[in-house]
Amino acid sequence: RQEIELFEKRTPKSAEAHKRNLKRLPLGVASNYRAYDPYPIFVKDAFGSKFRDLDGNEYIDHNLTFGALMAGHCHPAVMKAVEKRLTTGTMFGMPHDMEWELAEEICARFPIEMLRFASTGTEATMHTVRLCRAATGRDKIIKFEGGYHGLHDAALVSVKPKLEQIGDLKAPIAVPGGQGVPKTAVANVLIASFNDLESVEHRFKTHPNEISAIILEPVMMNVGICMPEPGFLEGLRELCDKHGALLIFDEVKTGAKLGWGGASEYFGVIPDAICLAKSIGGGLPLAAFGASKKVMGLISDHKVFHGGTYNTNPVSMAAGLATFREVLTRENYAHVEKLSHKLVTGYRRVVEEVGLDAYLEIAGANGVLMFAPKRVRNYRDWLEVDASLWQQYWFAMVNRGVMPQPYWWDEQWTMSVAHTDADTEKHLAVFGEIAPALAV
Ligand code: PLP
Repeated sequence: RQEIELFEKRTPKSAEAHKRNLKRLPLGVASNYRAYDPYPIFVKDAFGSKFRDLDGNEYIDHNLTFGALMAGHCHPAVMKAVEKRLTTGTMFGMPHDMEWELAEEICARFPIEMLRFASTGTEATMHTVRLCRAATGRDKIIKFEGGYHGLHDAALVSVKPKLEQIGDLKAPIAVPGGQGVPKTAVANVLIASFNDLESVEHRFKTHPNEISAIILEPVMMNVGICMPEPGFLEGLRELCDKHGALLIFDEVKTGAKLGWGGASEYFGVIPDAICLAKSIGGGLPLAAFGASKKVMGLISDHKVFHGGTYNTNPVSMAAGLATFREVLTRENYAHVEKLSHKLVTGYRRVVEEVGLDAYLEIAGANGVLMFAPKRVRNYRDWLEVDASLWQQYWFAMVNRGVMPQPYWWDEQWTMSVAHTDADTEKHLAVFGEIAPALAV
């Protein structure tokens, strides 16, 4: 309560703006993920590793648009490319040279032969699922309980189901993520438990020759950070091969943030299809999805339809090219990793010193302080996370100028290439200051 009062005292202009927005925008925001109580902070401007709110408070930004800005705000190389592009046409709806250039950059890092571009992660996973259905002639997919893949009907199933709705761990019940998701869509989504190959095998056994693909985030990040246990991804690969299904890595977050070559390089497991978005655009909307020539050839053969007015928008493509060439470099990954380790080591020290019942998890540029009694292996473990303590942590950090993700369930921080040692030291000093109150 004390921290919320302080929050309200520091951010009256955001409160006012939110009150005004409520009259025109449901929940007063443009995406449900931006809404939280008592009201969300409104941004004035952002540069590098920081942003300022309407009241002029400055924050070290670790939310970074829900992890979509590993470039940091206004990265100079991205800005230069965008500025140049702005004067030479912002929309063509026709092919241009940057498509080939960026396709080459992406195919050099990820194990795909052909790709198509889009603007959002939702589009990337939606088109990929459709392609896999067409490639196998089967309608059903397996998705993991708690996994998030965007907002289309096949994805909005069992994202945050309530404990009383979900049934047996080995055969979780598929729960629509709100009204308006058709029953027929839900019926085509089979739910399995992350890190539990038996639950996946059970689906293949009970639905022989019906499952087109398994879709997953190789590191599940919608439940804090949930790492795949050794052998899990390899096991999924084997099960897909055995049952004639395709393996989709939703790398909307991990693609740019686990390291140079995304999850396939990091874990050494090769999926059949990859979805990319968020941090590949360096701050502009950009997504891509790709697979083998055989699968993507379904589009060439006019069997699967894909289009989009904004696909390969030249401004986004210019930003994407600059991002791949000058932001997502091996040197920058080394920088981000070094800072992440410094941060997590500092966190661990404080957690131990104050005796906090929590643990740290880190995956490339992402990290989280999990207020959980044991290591989270799946969605059900995550339900035991102390969400109120997580909220208390969030308000206390924000009130002192550090912005973790404003939701109590995602990875808590993304480290960008713009973050510095000084940012990390301030972050740790703030955590050191607030941690004793969390341990009470
Ligand atoms: N897939 C994953 C793993 C995501 O984290 C998200 C967004 O958070 C999406 C898909 C959807 O991306 P978008 O919000 O760009 O539609």
